[in-house]
Amino acid sequence: MTQIAFIGLGHMGLPMARNLLKAGFALKVFDLVPAAVAELAKDGAQAAGSAAEAVQGTDVVISMLPASRHVEGLYLGDNGLFARLAPGTLVLECSTIAPESARKVHQAAAARGLGMLDAPVSGGTAGAAAGTLTFMIGGEAATLEKARSIFAAMGKNIFHAGPDGAGQVAKVCNNQVLAVQMIATAEAMALGVANGLEPAVLAEIMRQSSGGNWTLEKYNPWPGVMENAPASKGYTGGFMAELMAKDLGLAQEAAQVTASSTPMGALALQIYRLLLKQGKGQQDFSVVQQLFVE
Ligand code: NAD
Repeated sequence: MTQIAFIGLGHMGLPMARNLLKAGFALKVFDLVPAAVAELAKDGAQAAGSAAEAVQGTDVVISMLPASRHVEGLYLGDNGLFARLAPGTLVLECSTIAPESARKVHQAAAARGLGMLDAPVSGGTAGAAAGTLTFMIGGEAATLEKARSIFAAMGKNIFHAGPDGAGQVAKVCNNQVLAVQMIATAEAMALGVANGLEPAVLAEIMRQSSGGNWTLEKYNPWPGVMENAPASKGYTGGFMAELMAKDLGLAQEAAQVTASSTPMGALALQIYRLLLKQGKGQQDFSVVQQLFVE
């Protein structure tokens, strides 16, 4: 049976690890927060007291950590996990981090004879719980085939984006589009309502017209337009504005490396930084609506 070490059991990692257990994989788990480890131990995972302990004797390591520095800290350096893993071990790095950082970790993995994929996800906590995440994967196609059944236990769409770091590039491109659409939808909703339209009527007209986009389909930012959208639940229960700001920052970093022109992404980042300054970072990213209403 494939033995997997799962490190990082937060909002995303915990439900992802649960789905692996349900699919019959043997799991050793570690997080800096002991309560998260205890939670999964109840579901049948083996609790580890450190990351080093979790990876002992495992064939596969999965990590789901906040940002680049956590990932580099976990794997690289004299005390990093790469120094402990047996050649041939598969490393599936699912956090959203800078493409440059992912490439650095890929290089270190290759130097140790490890198979590595950068595999950030889309679909949020609901997708993680339902096992319907989208994986955007960078690395060798042959390595992806070895890991396919593991990804399939946690997600529905598994895309090979390209070589090392390509998964992270796809992720930041996608989230940049999402942020720009959300801001554009929010400002149009406020404009229409200020000019006397009913929010639900305007939302439906735009949804079915050439302005239609994912935020109008699934995630309208105006409270009350969509019953299950975070906007109708006080902007809770979705994707936090501070995480969107993080991803927009990563997109700008990637643009810097290639001298790409990304004016809409840059403006979106500035708008999300304003929201963070207003103390709204922990609210769903559709809270950007509030910038445009009196
Ligand atoms: P989170 O903060 O809830 O979880 C991260 C976990 O990592 C925490 O439990 C923390 O204790 C643990 N951790 C940090 N450093 C560690 C270390 N050295 N060893 C062991 N554990 C460590 O974050 P999350 O919402 O689960 O997001 C994880 C990643 O997924 C992020 O990169 C995020 O951008 C990305 N992501 C999140 C969502 C979402 O909706 N939350 C959606 C898509 C992608």
